[in-house]
Amino acid sequence: MAEHKGVMVFGEQKKGKIHKVTYELLGKACELAAKLDEQVYCCVVGPSGIQVDELIFRGADKVFYVTDDDLFELPEVLTYAKNIVRVIEDVKPEICLFGATSFGRSLAPRVAAALKCGLTADCTGLEIDAGDGKLIQIRPAFSENILAHIKSKVLPQMSTVRYKEFDEAVRDSSRKGEVKTYEPIRIADPMIEILEEIQKEEFSIADAKVVVSAGKGLKSPEDLKLIRELAEALGGVVGSSRPLVEEGFISKAHQVGYSGNRVKPKLYVACGVSGAPQHIAGMKESEMIFAINTDPSAPIFNIADYGIVGDLYEVVPKLIERINTRKDVQ
Ligand SMILES: Cc1cc2nc3c(=O)[nH]c(=O)nc-3n(C[C@H](O)[C@H](O)[C@H](O)COP(=O)(O)OP(=O)(O)OC[C@H]3O[C@@H](n4cnc5c(N)ncnc54)[C@H](O)[C@@H]3O)c2cc1C
Repeated sequence: MAEHKGVMVFGEQKKGKIHKVTYELLGKACELAAKLDEQVYCCVVGPSGIQVDELIFRGADKVFYVTDDDLFELPEVLTYAKNIVRVIEDVKPEICLFGATSFGRSLAPRVAAALKCGLTADCTGLEIDAGDGKLIQIRPAFSENILAHIKSKVLPQMSTVRYKEFDEAVRDSSRKGEVKTYEPIRIADPMIEILEEIQKEEFSIADAKVVVSAGKGLKSPEDLKLIRELAEALGGVVGSSRPLVEEGFISKAHQVGYSGNRVKPKLYVACGVSGAPQHIAGMKESEMIFAINTDPSAPIFNIADYGIVGDLYEVVPKLIERINTRKDVQ
């Protein structure tokens, strides 16, 4: 234990732009490192020109930067893993945190396997045990019915954390830190060849300020038009509960919840959503929750700030009309 020191964050980037989950992890890393009286590190693998100073402004004391324009142009996970493992073996952090983004979920298990250490996926809380100084990794288990507290016996203690779980580290442009660069390691045969990059619909519900979600109260996919109209009137995006995704009403990118996306908008409108624990897990941090449901005993009303007991097919058109009329007056 003695030779492992520091809390390391994997600095995820895409085409040189740092993913915001990195700033959230740095915020948590600062908290943990302060309790351990240790330093905060950030390991970045990517092309040249990444704003590494920004990582220092957000709390990193040292940035370890493995850079190569050709090698890291595409997110080839085995090459990334190899290079991160080398940095971890060199620096020997006590704790390593990755974002549970699709890339982080693919990367972290490979890094953990190479280092022969454990990995706790999708943590919702991280604390330091005041007794033994170990990391307590908190994550929901059994469909969100219990919160498991997990400790690792091996170092480094490694976790992935979902995007939007923690607050971003506060930016302080007067902070100073060190940047150490590494030459990249090439894998003779990475076994993966990226033939083509297909541009997906750039839709990120996680960053939306307003989310209007539909649940099983919606009778047909065509009726999503209503939800879309309300979302547009409010300047937001459409979310959904899992059954609508399973029934093919809408793509998984819109799903809110435990097995979907975590959202933290200023306003969350739930239309015909019952409020199952797995749905609530993805939206309970919303600043204001507004629910429309025909059933007054629906659990969503337990967490809603405002609610209307009523049929969404009657309530939503009235809301759209009211909002649009107000806009016309302004
Ligand atoms: C491992 C696991 C992971 C899961 N992950 C997720 C997840 O990520 N996200 C998720 O959402 N679920 C998830 N689920 C499913 C979850 O348990 C619930 O089944 C689901 O959230 C229910 O969706 P719903 O609220 O749309 O449907 P229902 O529970 O069927 O609720 C429909 C609601 O609509 C109301 N209603 C009906 N008609 C109207 C109307 N005309 N106007 C207004 N209200 C009306 C009803 O009163 C009811 O409250 C997961 C389950 C498991 C086991």
